[in-house]
Amino acid sequence: MPSFVNPEKCDGCKALDKTACQHICPNDLMVLDKDKMKAYNREPEMCWECYNCVKICPTQAVEIRGYADFVPMNASVTPLRSTDSIMWTVKFRNGILKRFKFPIRTTEEGKAQPAGGFETAHGDLNDHILAQEPEALKLSEVYTIK
Ligand code: SF4
Ligand code: SF4
Repeated sequence: MPSFVNPEKCDGCKALDKTACQHICPNDLMVLDKDKMKAYNREPEMCWECYNCVKICPTQAVEIRGYADFVPMNASVTPLRSTDSIMWTVKFRNGILKRFKFPIRTTEEGKAQPAGGFETAHGDLNDHILAQEPEALKLSEVYTIK
């Protein structure tokens, strides 16, 4: 089941230029209805349930199914992030609540290396040439469409 926004909890990220869920979605699925100041998933069939929007939402407004490998069917899962950990609240079908806290990073906030420590071909992350190309392709250059 794709993610969906609970409109009662969504505050539209208080009218920022780009909402947190818009910023984080790798598929560019989240949009903000500026009249209602509520976000929604515009193409649920394209959602791969990566949980990014679920975890970044500051008001816990984005809901998603919990995978069966960590919660039983019909249990709801709600994350609450802090800078170094994430607390998952699991609500089971019979109403029992359980909370699990996990560390989420070993690198200090703001210190992550964008390219994972690997050099890009020209030191530019926006370049179309990937790390270790063209040598890894055994080419003298990476061909591009002119
Ligand atoms: Fe609404 Fe949460 Fe998206 Fe912000 S991140 S617009 S509060 S769903
Ligand atoms: Fe986008 Fe992932 Fe949220 Fe789906 S779960 S809407 S792919 S951020």
